[in-house]
Amino acid sequence: MDEVREITILVKWSGKEYPINDLTDQDTVAVLRHEIFKRTQVRPERQKLINLKYKAKPAADDTKIGLLELKPNFKLMMVGSTEADIESACQRPNDVDDVLDDLDIVVEEKAFRIENSKVYLSKIQRRIRDYKITEINPPRDGKRLLVLDIDYTLFDHRSAAESGAELMRPYLHEFLESAYEHYDIVIWSATGMRWIEEKMRLLGVTTNTNYKIMFYLDSNAMISVHTSDRGVIDVKPLGVIWGIYPQYSAKNTIMFDDIRRNFIMNPKSGLKIKPFRQAHLNRDKDDELLKLSKYLRDIALNCEDFNKLNHRKWESFNPKK
Ligand code: MG
Repeated sequence: MDEVREITILVKWSGKEYPINDLTDQDTVAVLRHEIFKRTQVRPERQKLINLKYKAKPAADDTKIGLLELKPNFKLMMVGSTEADIESACQRPNDVDDVLDDLDIVVEEKAFRIENSKVYLSKIQRRIRDYKITEINPPRDGKRLLVLDIDYTLFDHRSAAESGAELMRPYLHEFLESAYEHYDIVIWSATGMRWIEEKMRLLGVTTNTNYKIMFYLDSNAMISVHTSDRGVIDVKPLGVIWGIYPQYSAKNTIMFDDIRRNFIMNPKSGLKIKPFRQAHLNRDKDDELLKLSKYLRDIALNCEDFNKLNHRKWESFNPKK
């Protein structure tokens, strides 16, 4: 781990300075652009990085930052504008990605390489060190771990509705109650903490007395990784939780998300749930959470090591075999 260096780059844009500090020398310029976007909302393709040079030429996106030989006190000058289309893209950054994700590429092999790459391990280490978890309820001895996405997994966040209950995925509370028997439950959403808390209140999760949520994780616990075919993406590495709570590991953790790339770092631990959309049309039809309750119970009672499971085939899991 020692050979990966953490790097901070000060970006000067529109008269203000933005320290970009979630970087290592192994990250590429594309990752730098992605981080700048997160801070400034200037999209990567619109960023003109005036003085970022490699061998006297503008540094290409796949150039590693460590090769740039940045001087101490280096300030990166950026030009780039935020426009109306950028604004809409920022509100719902997942829209485009949802479509991409439906292609559902086979990521296993690639994910393995990413999982083992030092730079990502170093970013996970930093999350373990710096991300502050507010524990709502303590972990319980001998329980497995269930990590749940919110949008489209538990909740249709896009349809209009009068109340949260209308957009809630059917059987949510039954599902959480049943899962709680064998699992400690964590909610991990790519939005901000305030929204997560708001949604959980809206859905009545906070006040339900039949189960307890251990804690929430937000987008700040995610890390950015550079993949060859999809560019820079933000993912949810379970290593962040495992590093802080060593009683959990790939052996006893399962994660539900409607977007497969969110668990690209832990493909064996992820279960891609069918997205719950158009709540009004599907409220009476969708029984995914009911079926998944059974799966969670079956594997908790019949499987010591979740590494042996193939969650892609969860629907045909047979505990007798
Ligand atoms: Mg989702």
